[in-house]
Amino acid sequence: MMQWLQLNWQQLLIGFSSGVVLTALASWLLFYLQQKKWQMTVADQLEDSIQQRTLELQITLIELAEKNKLLEQQSTIDALTGVRNRAFFDQKLSAEIKRSRRERSTLALLMIDIDHFKSFNDNHGHLVGDLVIKEVAQSLQQELKRSTDYLCRYGGEEFAIILPNTDSEGAMLLAEQLRLCLENQRIQHEKLELSISVSIGCYAGVAEINSVSIDYIQAADIALYRAKNEGRNRVVCNPEVVIPVQETPDESV
Ligand code: GH3
Ligand code: MG
Ligand code: MG
Repeated sequence: MMQWLQLNWQQLLIGFSSGVVLTALASWLLFYLQQKKWQMTVADQLEDSIQQRTLELQITLIELAEKNKLLEQQSTIDALTGVRNRAFFDQKLSAEIKRSRRERSTLALLMIDIDHFKSFNDNHGHLVGDLVIKEVAQSLQQELKRSTDYLCRYGGEEFAIILPNTDSEGAMLLAEQLRLCLENQRIQHEKLELSISVSIGCYAGVAEINSVSIDYIQAADIALYRAKNEGRNRVVCNPEVVIPVQETPDESV
């Protein structure tokens, strides 16, 4: 009997110890898994937050680049007329001269000046003068069909047009079309109806090895000066170019 009791006591002790060990093991495993799960949740949250921040940063960078582009564009626009300004003209002409030299292509420049502009200011005030400048800019812009032709306000009531890949004849034809368009235009202001005209000087040529912007500007200016001296409201090319006569269809045939 004593022996039986001793044996059972030992088995009970072994059973109890195994139970405790097993419970401790299970608890530890549970604790370990919970810990792991918590660590993974924290890591996931951290990764999510990093991804979100990266996305936000990318969006901010894109917005910043767009704003920069807009600012850059605005800095090349003339405030009164909305066409390109003198700074843009200087940069573009210089770039196009380099291209003309490199590609052996003809580059043309038109200098346009409103005739007797001072009289608009003197007779109707500067606001009407401003309106005339704006309307002329708008009409000139509408007549330009190639996206590579650049209309710029050169200063005051003078405009310049850079025409890449255009020879003297092409430039003269376009200049004549612009002149005619403005001659036929009437500018309305309250009860006023104003007529305008412009003189245009034109120069076209392939840039030489040492050609610079001032060469093109001076050559076109000489032509403009001649257009003014010869009576205004005309186009003059330097060197002189005869515009080919447009053949009109003979309706009698
Ligand atoms: P021409 O036929 O010889 O070109 O005569 P013009 O009167 O047009 O020439 P001139 O260069 O003597 O006059 C230009 C005037 O343009 C002088 C200036 O007061 C005026 N002007 C320049 N910029 C502006 C502007 O932004 N607005 C106004 N309203 N006038 C301007
Ligand atoms: Mg002038
Ligand atoms: Mg003038």
